[in-house]
Amino acid sequence: MGMLIKLSGALAPLGAQAEFHFQTTADALDAAPENAVLAGEIAVSGTCVNTGRSYRVEGAVRVLRSFVCDRCLGTFSQPQAYPFGEDFVRYREGDPQEDGVERFTDEAIDIAPLVRDTILTVQPLRNLCRDDCRGLCPRCGADLNRGDCGCDRRSIDPRLAALANLLKQDD
Ligand SMILES: [Zn+2]
Ligand SMILES: [Zn+2]
Repeated sequence: MGMLIKLSGALAPLGAQAEFHFQTTADALDAAPENAVLAGEIAVSGTCVNTGRSYRVEGAVRVLRSFVCDRCLGTFSQPQAYPFGEDFVRYREGDPQEDGVERFTDEAIDIAPLVRDTILTVQPLRNLCRDDCRGLCPRCGADLNRGDCGCDRRSIDPRLAALANLLKQDD
């Protein structure tokens, strides 16, 4: 699925600026993160400026990210905005390759690949409902974010726990 910014009309004059808005979905973009679900509509908006040398595209992707917290195993949905910015330079026969610019040949810029890359590269390796998520009690499994379960967890030394697991496996 393409997201085309047309370069004729409003964007034709040097210095011209045009806003863009697109609605899409993770499926349509083929942008499914491995450890989250982006349910519903994905909103893409921003501006494109004709700088003469390039078309400068800046904007943000807004998603609702649903994930399972690695610590407390709860399911959470968080609205998130991922910014993006890229210079698009029209390709002419024999132009040298340049780092940091996207080449295009048509009368419109398709920003779908940029949006897809933006979504996939900002995904965190770890899912946490919040930075200080307290996780689950290793004894009773209670969600410690909801209050203390009363178990004595001080006695569980991680090294002893590892040893205990080894001994269990020997049985
Ligand atoms: Zn959590
Ligand atoms: Zn407990």
